[in-house]
Amino acid sequence: MLDRRHTVGVRIGDVVVGGGAPVVVQSMTNTDTADIDSTVRQVASLARAGSELVRITVDRDEAAAAVPHIRDRLMALGVDVPLIGDFHYIGHKLLADHPACAEALAKYRINPGNVGFKDKRDKQFGQMIETAIEYGKPVRIGVNWGSLDQELLTRLMDENADRAEPWSAARVQREAIIQSALLSAERAEEIGLGRDRIILSTKVSQVQDLIKVYEELSARADYALHLGLTEAGMGSKGIVASSAALGILLQQGIGDTIRISLTPEPGGDRALEVQVAQQLLQTMGFRQFLPVVTACPGCGRTTSTVFQELAKDIEGHLSASMPEWRERYPGVEGLKVAVMGCIVNGPGESKHADIGISLPGTGENPAAPVFIDGRKATTLRGPGIAEEFKQMVADYIEKKFGSEESSAAE
Ligand code: SF4
Repeated sequence: MLDRRHTVGVRIGDVVVGGGAPVVVQSMTNTDTADIDSTVRQVASLARAGSELVRITVDRDEAAAAVPHIRDRLMALGVDVPLIGDFHYIGHKLLADHPACAEALAKYRINPGNVGFKDKRDKQFGQMIETAIEYGKPVRIGVNWGSLDQELLTRLMDENADRAEPWSAARVQREAIIQSALLSAERAEEIGLGRDRIILSTKVSQVQDLIKVYEELSARADYALHLGLTEAGMGSKGIVASSAALGILLQQGIGDTIRISLTPEPGGDRALEVQVAQQLLQTMGFRQFLPVVTACPGCGRTTSTVFQELAKDIEGHLSASMPEWRERYPGVEGLKVAVMGCIVNGPGESKHADIGISLPGTGENPAAPVFIDGRKATTLRGPGIAEEFKQMVADYIEKKFGSEESSAAE
């Protein structure tokens, strides 16, 4: 396992971000926070999907007034995920006018480009930091290049013009993003907020820029870092772009918490961003969330859809069972299952899994050898192969991960 680059750990409720802790998965709702029912439903769904922190928009009085009720309703449902308030423009006022909101939130996200202009910016930023100190909350100073502090950018552009060899505009912009985060963090510390209460993020929407910005930021400070490619986009484009950018940074030990900012398909499931974040961390070997199903892509040797259906079926079954299994079978998230389409790579790959099946390809003898812990256990035949294999997986899980009591009770 790769060591995390050293950052100061920040506690958010029961979750620790940075300081060498495992990378934390977070997500954000897209409901109107003033709509308590919808927001509770979506936060609960994101938390149940595995989001360890959930951010909600706090954009006006009605939203701020709803926050404590949302927290209470979630607690009544047994969902104690820390809630993060996302503030822009009037966060200082909302926090001052709604003390119950300030208390209910586990962290405040402050965008230094959106807290006000000139003198007001310093004053309003300071007010938010003082509220964080008063309520014992951490903050994320979240710079986004779509709302970058324009005064800072203009000053750096002017300074750049005086350089003997001026930097590119893109480099100046990256420097402005980094300075905005670092200067704001410095100011927060001057006001009295501990470094163990500060997380930084510097989000941009282009992969190469994101990598450069975070490499630089990480080299210049030891604040815990939140990673995310902003406006990553929809569907596979957003997933690939986020995974490429975050994967490269995580591999260097940079990043303590991640969010995958996907634009949802109309009617799509918001929890997809949580699944992608988990899959990214799991495929890179940083964390384990779900049993892994290794399936071959299929080819001309598999003209039937049996193996595709079985792979999908097994994956769906494992993922749907995880909320219960996590409690019942400690360690089950490390299970490896293989579902392979033919004899070419099937037996070999299946032997490397905890339990694997090699289905018959076109023209092969209609028999499916099953391998358990690297050894051939049996050969399945006939129309019930899928059901029999699923039962074998269930038996394997019970035997390997079940407690002695639960095995005896079966
Ligand atoms: S294991 Fe067989 S079916 Fe699957 S991709 Fe390889 S050759 Fe094709």
